[in-house]
Amino acid sequence: MEHHLHERDRVGVQDAVLLEDYNNQEVFVDNLQKRFKENVIYTYIGPVLISVNPYQELKIYDKKTIKEYDNKNFFEVPPHVFAITNNAFTSLKDENREQCILISGESGSGKTEASKKVLQYIAEVTDHKGEVEKVKDKLIFSNPILEAFGNAKTNRNDNSSRFGKYMDIQFNFEGNPVGGNILNYLLEKSRVISQTQGERNFHVFYQLLAGASDEEIGELKLKRTIDSYYYLSNGQQNGTHGINDKEDFAAVKKALTTLDFSSGEQMDLFSIISAVLQLGNVGFTEQDGLSVITKPDIVEDVSKLLNCDKNLLKKALLQRTIKTNNEEVVTPLNRELSVYARDALAKAVYDRVFTWLVKKINQSLQPNESRRNVVMGILDIYGFEIFERNSFEQLCINFCNEKLQQLFIDLTLKSEQDEYEKEGIVWQHIDYFDNKIICDLIEEKHKGLIAYMDEECLRPGDPNDVTLLAKLDEYLGYHAHYISHKKADTKLQKIMGRDEFRLIHYAGAVTYNIKSFIDKNNDLLYRDLKEAMIRSKNNILQSVFLESEQNSKKMPDTAITQFKHSVNNLMNILKDKEPSYIRCIKPNDSKRSATFNFDLVSHQVTYLGLMENLRVRRAGFAYRRDFTRFLKRYKCLSEDTWPNYHGSAKDGVKLLVRTLGYQDDEYQMGKTKIFIRHPKTLFATEDAFQF
Ligand code: ATP
Ligand code: MG
Repeated sequence: MEHHLHERDRVGVQDAVLLEDYNNQEVFVDNLQKRFKENVIYTYIGPVLISVNPYQELKIYDKKTIKEYDNKNFFEVPPHVFAITNNAFTSLKDENREQCILISGESGSGKTEASKKVLQYIAEVTDHKGEVEKVKDKLIFSNPILEAFGNAKTNRNDNSSRFGKYMDIQFNFEGNPVGGNILNYLLEKSRVISQTQGERNFHVFYQLLAGASDEEIGELKLKRTIDSYYYLSNGQQNGTHGINDKEDFAAVKKALTTLDFSSGEQMDLFSIISAVLQLGNVGFTEQDGLSVITKPDIVEDVSKLLNCDKNLLKKALLQRTIKTNNEEVVTPLNRELSVYARDALAKAVYDRVFTWLVKKINQSLQPNESRRNVVMGILDIYGFEIFERNSFEQLCINFCNEKLQQLFIDLTLKSEQDEYEKEGIVWQHIDYFDNKIICDLIEEKHKGLIAYMDEECLRPGDPNDVTLLAKLDEYLGYHAHYISHKKADTKLQKIMGRDEFRLIHYAGAVTYNIKSFIDKNNDLLYRDLKEAMIRSKNNILQSVFLESEQNSKKMPDTAITQFKHSVNNLMNILKDKEPSYIRCIKPNDSKRSATFNFDLVSHQVTYLGLMENLRVRRAGFAYRRDFTRFLKRYKCLSEDTWPNYHGSAKDGVKLLVRTLGYQDDEYQMGKTKIFIRHPKTLFATEDAFQF
């Protein structure tokens, strides 16, 4: 018994519901820390997995470990991403229920790595026959492609995903993967034209420069040196520790081939990437207020690479045509607007090519069988973001997290409630913060933040960030979760600028700076540039620009409205699935192993809403186990059930708890399970058992 208590003290408890003081965040974080110090990175809150990034290779992902989790009961094995996956997979196979695995956490916390472990597990425990193996290869090889084009080195993560990703794995009735489908969200396209100090552009640019053959370099009109390119020049110049761009390029090409990209398509693709890179080197001067291209030969190279008319492209960089009521008005651009047009083109091309990549990958992942498949979805999406300075992108990301929290509340509370009902246990109301009010504040029709933003963006006259903020302040100032500079108290006014507004999110207050909101939301690409692209003979370009043109017969949606639609679409996909949650935590800011920063973790525990999660779980019963298993483990503790017992499991448990002296308010008998309210009751039993 001594030893047993000591063990719990040292390694902590594997399920936070077993913490006596479950309202105490310090106790909760301390438990994570104890485990982390022992290299135990996984902990549960009931069915939710918490994962703390170890920043070192642990030997817990090998085939032998997978075997230990394959077909095991969730609670009989230590917490692990494999246990979560196995649990979901079992439910998918045995009960034909669609699954989704929702992974959240801040940048660098280990979301993408976790999603790969899920896939690794599935790949290992399913059939290794030819066709299935091929599908699994494709699923796995989609990662290096999307990471090359969608990931970058940031100051927080050397391989940071700069887009949100939802991937479906489709299973046939035998439980083998037969296909997949990927949805992508909000690529951070501003990275194409500039990066923060110490960060890089998307991996693919460096991979191309380092990995292409001399012949390809010639054909793509490239130079190998990074500092030849303006779009790479404000980022990190020298080689990056731990990244081998040359090897990665080879892996990407192999992956592209695996996913059925023809060599022609690959050439078209890299021509575009090279063109985007060189577009940044196109310079402008100004003569009499009009923009002039300084190095026309670069534009010519770019137009060759894009396979478009060079004069059309030049013209499109120097002038803007506006069509109004059958009239065409051509306005020449000044230098500043030319630079703006150039950058807008680079971003638009890159962004659309990324979407094209996903589409192509999906075509290759289409299952051959047309039978109905069951799906397991994996969501790897940016967590809540609170920076020193927060902008339009943070608003989008945080809105998405509000929606996911809504879903979480719906699904967890609902499943708790369902279980109690199913087991015939008296349901107690749980008091929790419902963030619907914040979702409404942002997305409600006609009177939410998004509606006012769009209204201002599309208003004739001169809508700008200042008028937008004034409008938001005027119409949303009444709302408890919206704080305008004017409404703020004096203390807050000191830290809030006049060009800022503040939202009280479920995870905490965030101050947003209004600068560039209108611009980012309009996401304008001048018509002349669009037309030059549509006329390109590069198949990829033509198709992506034509497509968006056809879709926008009417006024195109603003950026945030498009995002809102895709988030709501995602919610619809997720809401009918059985969810599993993985909450990732970053233990320190310096990518170091064995370093646990208590305050940093504490912050994340708050933003992830883990204490709330624990409270909901504990509001009912900390522990539940079906009668058979409970009896099997503890039957030796009572003479009524040991050594001989022949009755039903439920009656056995009844006899057992009488011997153990459980009080009426400590537990309830369901139909198939015993529910125990406090962990100490279970610990006492467990200790008696050990003794
Ligand atoms: P972002 O939001 O920036 O994409 P992320 O949450 O996806 O971040 P990952 O890229 O998964 O973060 O992880 C960052 C790094 O942390 C990895 O490149 C790896 O070095 C390390 N890491 C994460 N999880 C593990 C793990 N389970 N074991 C070992 N190292 C890990
Ligand atoms: Mg990631």
